[in-house]
Amino acid sequence: VTGRWAIGVDVGGSKIASAVVSEDGLVEGRRVVATPVGQGAAAVLAAITRQVRDALGLLPRGDLLAGLGISTGGAVDHASGIVLSATDLLPGWAGRELAADLRHQLGVAVYVDNDGNAHALGEHRFGAGRGLRDMLCVAVGTGIGGGLVLDGRIRRGASHTAGEIGHVPAVGAQERTCSCGGVGHVETVASGPAMTARYRDLSGDPDVTDLRVVARRADEGDPIATAVLADGGGSLGQVLAGLVNTLDPQAVVLAGGVADVGEKFCVPLRDSLQTSALPGPSRVAVLPAQLGGAAPLAGAGLLALERHGEDRRIEGVDQWQ
Ligand SMILES: [Zn+2]
Repeated sequence: VTGRWAIGVDVGGSKIASAVVSEDGLVEGRRVVATPVGQGAAAVLAAITRQVRDALGLLPRGDLLAGLGISTGGAVDHASGIVLSATDLLPGWAGRELAADLRHQLGVAVYVDNDGNAHALGEHRFGAGRGLRDMLCVAVGTGIGGGLVLDGRIRRGASHTAGEIGHVPAVGAQERTCSCGGVGHVETVASGPAMTARYRDLSGDPDVTDLRVVARRADEGDPIATAVLADGGGSLGQVLAGLVNTLDPQAVVLAGGVADVGEKFCVPLRDSLQTSALPGPSRVAVLPAQLGGAAPLAGAGLLALERHGEDRRIEGVDQWQ
């Protein structure tokens, strides 16, 4: 049987990850390098190209390559592969014709999407959302990303921001400036750095820079740590209640490093979701993500694997430009 593969790359403000992804959901040869943000967008593009060239060398001869998929922070026009806007984490990234540039350099089909969409796509096809028709994926980490699957398809919306759950206005976030430049969004109270900073403010302990420390203190009975996680989880739960009332999905998939800190964050989240949702959607399944950091890579690969018509037979590493 001939295998069919894609290369998936996940581009963030701190690291670039890559892997080869098979049609059956294998994510192999994962490699991570630091994003050379200080050296400008051209250097970031060169780093991506190097990662892809290395990944091309991992593909089995005789199989098929569907193309390259890129998951990136920022708003992306998926159809054209152009980055429309990006935060300060990726300076010079906005306006990049990412698909066209990389196709020109590598000679393979290239597809680009926002990282929240790629994360949702990976979990939907290969992870916690397998077989579901309608699902919301929320990834809580340094920021809060998300993706929306309706009728089995990623929905990107009229201006390419569907699923941007982190930028929904939220309780407790008034006056706080968000990474997007807006004010009062849930990311400013429920992301990892937001809760860590709040703990530092309230506890007066300036040395805490990692949410896992806050979570450990909460588990040991520290009331400030407990309250900070409960407020963040509760605020995000209320945002999710509004979304499940509106969309009535079968499941909410909770992903990202913050979701892994445990019940001091997740229980208040579920409680507030259930309290504020209508009776039907309050019973929505809240599922832990299954793929971890492999989800956006799997989703990036799927962007290429779900297209047909540009497959190329893999003959050897010398065939690629
Ligand atoms: Zn925002």
